[in-house]
Amino acid sequence: MKSSLRLGKVLGIPIGINYTWFIIFVMVTLSLATAYFPNRYADWSQAGYWGVGMLTSLLFFASVLLHELAHSAVARAWGIPVRSITLFIFGGVANISREPDRPLSEFLIAIAGPASSLALALGFGLLWLGGQALNLEALAALGLYLAGINLSLALFNLVPGFPLDGGRVFRSIVWAVSGNMNRATRWAATLGRIIAVLMIVGGGILVVRGDWSGLWLAFIGWFLESAASQSVQQVHVRETLEGYTAADFASRGCQAVDHNMPLDWVVRDYVMPHGDQCFFVTDGQQAEGAVTWGQIRQVPRQRWGWTPVRQIMTSFNSLKPVAAGEGAYAVLERMLTEGQSLLPVIEGSHLIGLVRLESMLQFAQVRGSPKA
Ligand SMILES: [Zn+2]
Repeated sequence: MKSSLRLGKVLGIPIGINYTWFIIFVMVTLSLATAYFPNRYADWSQAGYWGVGMLTSLLFFASVLLHELAHSAVARAWGIPVRSITLFIFGGVANISREPDRPLSEFLIAIAGPASSLALALGFGLLWLGGQALNLEALAALGLYLAGINLSLALFNLVPGFPLDGGRVFRSIVWAVSGNMNRATRWAATLGRIIAVLMIVGGGILVVRGDWSGLWLAFIGWFLESAASQSVQQVHVRETLEGYTAADFASRGCQAVDHNMPLDWVVRDYVMPHGDQCFFVTDGQQAEGAVTWGQIRQVPRQRWGWTPVRQIMTSFNSLKPVAAGEGAYAVLERMLTEGQSLLPVIEGSHLIGLVRLESMLQFAQVRGSPKA
């Protein structure tokens, strides 16, 4: 969670606020306290406008958070871990660790967000009616505004442009019908890009007509477009790796080096003459970790003479090895999720090699894009 402030944990999920979100908070509070409320309710005090404005902004924030928590809770119920939730300028993002593996789980995870926003809209609608019945104007005003905001959150997210929630719902349906997740993602992302372009064009037209809110629409469209093309790339990688296993990517020629060997020895004896890329680090008997040329290269050269390999190795203690038969894409997903640059591959209990992130990404790029 770069450039964001950690708020704490809800349901065990770290919650963060991106700094851009504070812009929204200030803008919403400002427009509520100086325009929206004073225009509609003439006889409140200044403190009243600002107080209700701030409270409304905070509840707006809580509504977005609840929307993301709804996605997260359903994802977790399907066994998909959620790494974090971050709120930023366009709303919130639940950082779900991997794609759902069934259309039904995708559908339920996606629909949970808009459903919770709709439920919140209903709840605030009731608050509005309650406030009116009790003659509490501020309560009614707050309820009415938040009911509207949550309703628009639900409706906007239901726009069928992947990766918006509605796009995910659309993808899950195409996926269920066609049985092909990659094709479903392509369709959904294409629709997402069309909608994004429409938003950008529509926003542009608004701006030309002097309505600056068009800038906002165009901005969201641009954001949606880049997210959609990113998911197409991801499909590319997935298709390229399809049918391959961890064993296919395991470099088997990894030499064993003693854990006390300094880096410059490894470079001089193995990397320079043979171009070796990976090494098992042993304590003389068994492998306790591994190191790659890529990791060595990150250490400044003047330190190679007195840095033993064990100091920079990836220790196997904390690392769950992958089984030789595991799908290559699943291995790549795991490496990216856990931030690992290499993983040991085992067959039974026998260590057969190392799979390196570098070589997987290179392969996916070479095979995946016709330009390369
Ligand atoms: Zn959502």
